[in-house]
Amino acid sequence: MVKISWQGTVISIQPRTTVWRYKVDNRTHGHVGYNIFLDGEADGVKKRFAVAISEKQQQTVGFRISDEAKGTAWTKKYPQWEFADFYRAGGLKRVLPNDEPADEGAAPPWLGAPPDMETYDWRGCRVLSKSCWSGKCFKCKWAAMANVTIEYDWGKSQKFRFESFCYGPKSCKLYKMGKSPMVPYKGYGSIPDEHGGFDDLCTERRGWDD
Ligand code: SF4
Repeated sequence: MVKISWQGTVISIQPRTTVWRYKVDNRTHGHVGYNIFLDGEADGVKKRFAVAISEKQQQTVGFRISDEAKGTAWTKKYPQWEFADFYRAGGLKRVLPNDEPADEGAAPPWLGAPPDMETYDWRGCRVLSKSCWSGKCFKCKWAAMANVTIEYDWGKSQKFRFESFCYGPKSCKLYKMGKSPMVPYKGYGSIPDEHGGFDDLCTERRGWDD
């Protein structure tokens, strides 16, 4: 692991989330901070990259889309598990803040300030197609790319991957689920996490437009 410096323009702020899957019996979500996506330079290389920051850091610094931001961070210890390019961020600064009045807009994607972790946790989420996540939904505060752990052989081995989710209103016109994720388990092959099961359960507290 190496400490690097980065600077760039904030293009998206999404919750940094975890998912633990076991066959089709369990899909447990955790909310551990934010992934800040930037266009800029990291470790001397111009590129688009993501930096994981804590909830407290975001509450203190208050990054917004279109800010010019900078900081330090570390390269990943577990690249197969961590979606962000860098984590353990520090020295965070809004170099050129976007001080325009916050505008939620009348249509998605929703670009306002992201809520706290408790709110994401309460809302719950639905599976979102990867093409939506990387396309029209990318700037939305309700989009997330989760670090997923699959209990492949109980107590003996796990698999890791990344899955996209939406915490936004169920009525959002941009929403597409895409294919049901397949959940592998030793001796069973891959079992589909069917639409309508976990998504309904995870978002049961919310109505159609919430
Ligand atoms: S589908 Fe979800 S993530 Fe995409 S724009 Fe709508 S609310 Fe945002």
